[in-house]
Amino acid sequence: MAGKSSDKCSFCGRSSKDVNMLIAGMSAHICNECAEQAHIIVNESLEAKDSGKFTLNGDKLPKPIEIKNFLDLYIIGQDDAKRYLSVSVYNHYKRILQTKQSDEVEIEKSNIIMVGPTGTGKTMLARTIAKMLHVPFTIVDATVLTEAGYVGEDIESLLSRLLQVADYNVEAAQRGIVFIDEMDKIARKGDNPSITRDVSGEGVQQGLLKLLEGSVVNVPPQGGRKHPEQKFIQVDTKNILFICGGAFDGIEKKIASRLNTRTVGYSASKDTEGIDRNNLMQYVAPQDLKSFGLIPEIIGRLPILTYLNPLDRSALRRILTEPRNSIIKQFEKLFTMDDVQLTFTDEALDFIVDKAIEFKLGARGLRAITESIMIDAMFEIPSSDVKTMNIDIQYAQRKLEKSNLSRFQISE
Ligand code: ADP
Repeated sequence: MAGKSSDKCSFCGRSSKDVNMLIAGMSAHICNECAEQAHIIVNESLEAKDSGKFTLNGDKLPKPIEIKNFLDLYIIGQDDAKRYLSVSVYNHYKRILQTKQSDEVEIEKSNIIMVGPTGTGKTMLARTIAKMLHVPFTIVDATVLTEAGYVGEDIESLLSRLLQVADYNVEAAQRGIVFIDEMDKIARKGDNPSITRDVSGEGVQQGLLKLLEGSVVNVPPQGGRKHPEQKFIQVDTKNILFICGGAFDGIEKKIASRLNTRTVGYSASKDTEGIDRNNLMQYVAPQDLKSFGLIPEIIGRLPILTYLNPLDRSALRRILTEPRNSIIKQFEKLFTMDDVQLTFTDEALDFIVDKAIEFKLGARGLRAITESIMIDAMFEIPSSDVKTMNIDIQYAQRKLEKSNLSRFQISE
């Protein structure tokens, strides 16, 4: 492939004597340096194109049903939450497209709040949507946020993280998704505005409000290797989608008492008729969030309110094997990489689910328990001649007993 001494690079004009290598094409040549340069240019322009994937081309924005179908591949159940999320995410990005066209009717931003027990898939839903849309995504724990000037992280720090994952592409970050976890932990204690200052509660809510509404924020470029000299980066939160999540422990009581208030009056029995008292979460309404201690302004900026169901035995059993990257599929793959065919009996899988329920670990426990059962095999098998491995209930029981069961137990 190296050219003759008389050949020259068609890009920089240097002869083969002056470069390390000259690659010949049909009627041109390129030297190694120009080839490298071309490679960098191609990558940069592909990246730029990638970050603007759907905003540049409205056709690429998946429709709500497509978003829901994608979520179905990874998350079991939670149909209501999936539908709400799919529609609001679709509308959100449609709205961004619309602002680009500067239309007259302005669609308002609709941030989302998901209420439901811990470990039921809230984070996973938000993460999966971001994955589908190829937008920057970050998770922040609301409990670490404090008002400026207090110990803890400033509210702006959540935008620093978004910038980081967007590799300091401000435009991409401005269309990203921020998942704010543990939103219930910044509720003020009680329904009444506090007289004393409430550092971690109302103050943080007020700070968050600014971001949820959409404003231009000066963000310190934490760990900003690309802009060490720059003090602040301006980020406009207008098009950032905020998805909040929280367990809101005890909110069922607020829901119940709200539903009961209707029992007073002539249509009492009619109103409470057909209410599923075993799952009150599905009736959650904005005023319950207020009773819980979120300030009305915040609630107003989180117009999409949806809930997640607690995971029952059958949901946990499905989570173990059905999602595209289910825990069991991941273990099977790990073993396949060592040419070992791994199988589980149904009883062994039921056993894992039973233990997760017994230890009150929910879906998160499934992995921890499976890991404990598999640890010995994962240690030994790669160095052995074993080609198949079947995990039955006796094996699972034996291994789990050995693994200091008590550490799984969650004290209440
Ligand atoms: P949350 O944010 O509600 O506390 P997560 O989304 O972090 O819960 O869930 C914890 C883990 O449990 C996830 O990583 C996933 O493995 C599993 N999980 C929880 N709910 C589901 C679900 N509905 N479908 C599939 N996996 C789930």
